[in-house]
Amino acid sequence: MEFKSINQLKSLLDENKISVKEIAQTYIKKIKEKKDLNIFIYFDENIIDDQVKEIEKLPNNKKLKGIPIAVKDLFCTKNMPTTAASKILENFNPTYESFVTQKLINEGSLFVGKTNLDEFAMGSATNTSYFGNTINPLSNHDIPLAPGGSSGGSAAAVAADLCLGSTGTDTGGSIRQPASFCGVVGIKPTYGLCSRWGIAAFASSLDQAGIFSKNVTDASILLEEIAGHDERDSTSSNVAIPNYSKQLNSDLNGKTIGIPKEYTVDGISDEINAVWDDAIKSLEKKGAKIKHISLPHTKYALPTYYIIAPAEASSNLARYDGVKYGFRAEEAKSLDEMYEMTRSEGFGKEVKRRILIGTYVLSAGYYDAYYLKAQKVRKLIANDFIETFKDCELILTPTAPSAAFPLNEKQDDPIKMYLNDVFTVPASLAGIPGISIPYGKNKSGLPLGIQLLGKHFNEQEIFNAAFALEKDYE
Ligand code: GLN
Repeated sequence: MEFKSINQLKSLLDENKISVKEIAQTYIKKIKEKKDLNIFIYFDENIIDDQVKEIEKLPNNKKLKGIPIAVKDLFCTKNMPTTAASKILENFNPTYESFVTQKLINEGSLFVGKTNLDEFAMGSATNTSYFGNTINPLSNHDIPLAPGGSSGGSAAAVAADLCLGSTGTDTGGSIRQPASFCGVVGIKPTYGLCSRWGIAAFASSLDQAGIFSKNVTDASILLEEIAGHDERDSTSSNVAIPNYSKQLNSDLNGKTIGIPKEYTVDGISDEINAVWDDAIKSLEKKGAKIKHISLPHTKYALPTYYIIAPAEASSNLARYDGVKYGFRAEEAKSLDEMYEMTRSEGFGKEVKRRILIGTYVLSAGYYDAYYLKAQKVRKLIANDFIETFKDCELILTPTAPSAAFPLNEKQDDPIKMYLNDVFTVPASLAGIPGISIPYGKNKSGLPLGIQLLGKHFNEQEIFNAAFALEKDYE
């Protein structure tokens, strides 16, 4: 049995054509059938049954009553462990619920499990997880493909129909790129729209929670639930949250959409450019005005990101020392040795690489040359967007430079892996919102995504254009 949307399942529930228990049973079955894809780090039928009993007691006007949701295993959850896909948090049971997951629980969501990710959300293929790779459900049998990352498990869970929506986090593209690889919708909201409270920190000035779903309407329904002010996150914005789903409007007349010339990069496949062109033509046909624009500092975005994100990561990850929580190396003979052995054994290779880079760029002799300079360039990148948005409502680009690649293809080459983020990191550095929606396929039948970027806190505009484009493939 496949449910197509939140509203469809909600109507069935309202008309008593299905019960919360039946929904749970349906998804438990599907999850078990697709176990080999390694989408979940944590899945427990008993926990699902416990939730069913609570959810059944809720009134039907709860907006997400019984809606199956998968949670990226970076969000702290009280009734399920939280690992960040790291050995260092292997047996960590949070004593509190993250802001985002609490909001979903309050509206009656049914959590089906915790999804796999790159360790501490560092990666683009969900292959740095301590719990093994997730396989993209769209792979054919001979060549297993990567689901993208870091929120690869959450994107794959929606693509494999193991939930109707899932949570993700996006620091440099971790929602948008896996959404593109798995052929689902993924939105990274404006920095500060959703509280980071209870999300294991990677790079605090970039981390942002968001949503994966099967369609734009569902993404808008879920985002309006998880957004909102939270005084426990000092960067949480106090803005009114629009009723995105009620205001969805596919009329693009009078809208100007910018096409940045810097996103035509060497080596990118013709298929990606073809899909981009198709989307541009479609927007024009729907009444939008297309404007060719320049975001001159785009080429510095990737190196800037790979200085700032590791710098913040090295500081955030200092808390995992074997003293307070998580894994501790037992054989150590002194305190220093305990720290050293805990961190050497507890973190994987990519996380250690980031900690080393981050520590280096923050160290006394190099701070000005790297970290401080990167902060200044970040401002220039953000200003490019602010200037452009004076006469454009939105910007349209490809989401990723390729379709899903074979599982281990870029595993041993970090630079190749980092290049995946070329189209997503500029918006992250600027803190602006972005969505990826599936738009066409390549020759092998794999989905390709396009990205719409908007002004700070103008998620509505993004949803509206995405809603209009989505109709091309209905
Ligand atoms: N791929 C990027 C990185 O490895 C982005 C990750 C993310 O957004 N969490 O840093």
